Amino acid sequence: MQNFKENLIEAIEKIEKSRISVDRHRIVRLVAVSKYSSSQEIQALYECGQRAFGENKVQDLTQKSKTLESLPLEWHFIGNLQSNKINALLALKPFMFHSLHSLELALQLQKRLERESLTLKALLQINSAKESTKSGVMPEIALETYHQILEECPNIKLCGLMSIGAHSSHSKLIQSSFETTHALFEKLQRFGANTLSMGMSGDFELAIKCGSNCVRLGSILFK
Ligand SMILES: *Cc1c(COP(=O)(O)O)cnc(C)c1O
Repeated sequence: MQNFKENLIEAIEKIEKSRISVDRHRIVRLVAVSKYSSSQEIQALYECGQRAFGENKVQDLTQKSKTLESLPLEWHFIGNLQSNKINALLALKPFMFHSLHSLELALQLQKRLERESLTLKALLQINSAKESTKSGVMPEIALETYHQILEECPNIKLCGLMSIGAHSSHSKLIQSSFETTHALFEKLQRFGANTLSMGMSGDFELAIKCGSNCVRLGSILFK
């Protein structure tokens, strides 16, 4: 835990360096992914200045947000959401849901949101490298799906796209998966898309160079 401050400063410096190399006007948000970290570790990183945290399991988010409810944290949900966990997630009123992976899930969310008179900020997850192990909509149908959700799900406030870089050791492949998502994002900006969530500990500098304005970092912060 004593390294958290250094880890955070180092990550922010790398984010800034990548950002400035491509775009002086963009602001890149940092979501600290705390899925492998304890509430005490989250609190320690908060005390170093970090506010936004991401979890990928509804149960963990429930438990950690309750333990830390006295702190002004901003919670992001970044995991695969199962239908039977929708109510539990909505009850937590997360700041943003990054991993909306299908129209079906959007319609289910819309029904519950409408019933509870709630809204939810969300990003459409793109399976940009077309990997069977990942969820998300295929790039070919992404624009159509985005527009369908905008039309049919008024309680979902779509803010942009999310993607996980290709699972590869070849940076060209990872870059190409980021570029695919960025090209879709550019087409959606005039429809209100303003957040492009791409980049994890191993590839966030590349993601920022490809247009990301929100990185999700876990292991390099909590080491
Ligand atoms: C775990 C996870 C991250 C963070 O991964 P690190 O490699 O630890 O930075 C980011 N995004 C998602 C969707 C994750 O599940």
